Amino acid sequence: MTASVTTITITGAGGQIGYALLFRIAAGDMLGADRPVRLRLLEVRPGIRSAEGAALELQDGAFELLHDVEVTEDPAVAFDGCNIALLVGARPRGPGMERRDLLAANAGIFGPQGAAIAAHAADDVRAVVVGNPANTNALIAAASAPGVPPERFSALTRLDHNRAAAQLAATLDAPVGVVRDVAIWGNHSATQFPDISHATVAGTPALRALEERFGGADAAARWVDDEFIPRVAGRGAEIIEVRGSSSVASAANAAITHVRDDVLGTSEARGWTSAAVVSHGEYGVPAGLFSSFPVTSDGSGYRIVEGLTIDDRARARIDASTAELVEERDAVHALGAL
Ligand code: NDP
Repeated sequence: MTASVTTITITGAGGQIGYALLFRIAAGDMLGADRPVRLRLLEVRPGIRSAEGAALELQDGAFELLHDVEVTEDPAVAFDGCNIALLVGARPRGPGMERRDLLAANAGIFGPQGAAIAAHAADDVRAVVVGNPANTNALIAAASAPGVPPERFSALTRLDHNRAAAQLAATLDAPVGVVRDVAIWGNHSATQFPDISHATVAGTPALRALEERFGGADAAARWVDDEFIPRVAGRGAEIIEVRGSSSVASAANAAITHVRDDVLGTSEARGWTSAAVVSHGEYGVPAGLFSSFPVTSDGSGYRIVEGLTIDDRARARIDASTAELVEERDAVHALGAL
């Protein structure tokens, strides 16, 4: 029996992250080697030729799983029958651009895309927002998609999660595969809270391992506050500084694993992951905001890990990032985009 074809829509497919995504999806890295895929590449006029070029290269890849590729400027065509959407294209912050202008420009992109998803996508559609400001763009898209449950939308904080796990592993001289239950809370921005208070490394609580590594609880806490958290939250800027341009392959890798875990499920052995999903009031985050939480999936979508103990320091950091999300929501609301 032939497996049914999964329709995947990628917006901003002519951009850098798009280029790093497409070939891995076609090779089966996202959904597995038994799932044929149809790719629909959405671009705006300046990006169309780049997306068309990528489509030609996809053809030349002779990927056995790749059913067909279509490049379009029309969201109605791009989201027709879409099962999985990766919303990558966004308006970057230009020099001197106010946050209000950035939010307004992105509301003009993610509002119509949410509406097109509601009108044209398949009943089982799931959409992940990569383009920044990702959490609030997800909020706008979900609010513009009547009839599609907001739980079908998410925003990417998996790169932050991976960065946190990798920094912890490197500091403890452990392979990253033995790090479990790191969490990213809040906004995909400098206010995010990378949290290792529940993490374990090869079965040992990460904080205990750090105390041994740094010679005491105070020194371990200083490392977390002064090095770990700023390093993870500022890693994007560090990559730009070293590489001369923003992170691309690691962002694409994070998007692929975000969708894979959402659709195929997380495993008990690897622990939870992190994603920005709609809040129903969990951990005091106002309902309706898209905030990053520790999450698991049984294949039917991400669910927030509940019942974790949040100490006062964590509470203050979660509240600060939540306040930023509230400000963004209110700014978008004032624009009339919600
Ligand atoms: P990239 O492909 O490098 O980035 C795309 C988006 O991903 C940006 O918003 C970027 O945010 C975001 N992003 C999220 N996480 C990361 C990360 N860790 N590192 C870097 N970026 C991250 O941008 P390009 O300019 O190369 O490509 C964007 C494409 O989108 C263009 O081809 C453009 O034409 C297209 N576009 C399409 C639209 C549409 O389909 N309707 C609408 C608007 C644009 P940040 O800016 O903060 O780096």
